[in-house]
Amino acid sequence: AGRSAPLVWMPTLAVLVVTCPCSLILATPAAMMAAQAWLARRGVLIKGSAVLEQLATVSRIAFDKTGTLTTGQLQLGDVQAFGQANSQEVLRWAASAEQSSEHLIAQAIVRAARSASLEPQPVEDFLALPGAGVAVRLPAAPNNPGGRLLVGNRRLLVEQDVSFTPEVDVAIERLESLGQTPLLVSLDRQVVGLIGVRDTLRAEATHVVQELRSLGIEQIAVLSGDRWAAAQEIARAIGADQVQAELRPEDKARWLLAWRRERAEMKVAMIGDGVNDAPALASSDVGLALAGVGSDLAADAGDLLLMGDPLAPLPGLLKLSR
Ligand code: ADP
Ligand code: MG
Repeated sequence: AGRSAPLVWMPTLAVLVVTCPCSLILATPAAMMAAQAWLARRGVLIKGSAVLEQLATVSRIAFDKTGTLTTGQLQLGDVQAFGQANSQEVLRWAASAEQSSEHLIAQAIVRAARSASLEPQPVEDFLALPGAGVAVRLPAAPNNPGGRLLVGNRRLLVEQDVSFTPEVDVAIERLESLGQTPLLVSLDRQVVGLIGVRDTLRAEATHVVQELRSLGIEQIAVLSGDRWAAAQEIARAIGADQVQAELRPEDKARWLLAWRRERAEMKVAMIGDGVNDAPALASSDVGLALAGVGSDLAADAGDLLLMGDPLAPLPGLLKLSR
């Protein structure tokens, strides 16, 4: 009997194959398990096998800009003070307001302040305003009067009734012309400073988008909460068909829903990293969230998590899904 072990097993297997449609039942889970192992090696985690099936039919992809197409390693640009303040105070106040924020802008400001030996001071009533900025209460201290402190874009400050002088608007335009994203700092409805930040396109972004096109992706969109100039520059660099800027989180979601409705047969994927992308990720056919660099909320909203290099696995992922 010992010499015929294979001879015993082969008929057993044959009986199994004949008596149940195993080939049909086993094929999909087996393929899925193999796929998941392949994906795991590339830092891709899928939440359920239906995600891959959805991805196979995608023909439109929307990308978030900051942190997704760009590295998110923001660099501090110019810092300018207005009125009585000086630029060191401006940077320290901004870092104090941003110390609890998980936004890439916040991280860059806190890092820059620390490396200039400006320790953030304790603040109260922290409020994150996704796609806009942050608000806190700065307690009075011997060297400052305290008050309501805002750091964010121009729209946020206008909404909060901060008054602008022509000097501030000229300074904003100058930063924009230098390719920097201007962030305003206000204390009790007065603009006290302006901080510029810079970001760079990921080295592989253009190439990855070209590969996606050669795989039949028909349209690529860039959706950004940043200003038009910055968003258009990135869209041009990767050769996107559509670009939208100055979007609040709910605007991104609304735009995506409209894009899906426009051509129901064209499935839409969204790729994003931030808390501002969570509604858009949930509004797409397939949401791909960058984990690690971005926000937990985005990771929750995504159907698929990109844990390592976010862009490089995309063409392989698409091929695998098909
Ligand atoms: P993107 O969609 O390009 O990733 P976001 O929606 O995260 O951009 O941010 C949009 C804009 O909102 C930023 O360009 C900035 O002006 C402002 N903003 C958002 N979060 C913050 C923050 N924590 N501090 C300052 N500004 C912020
Ligand atoms: Mg982002």
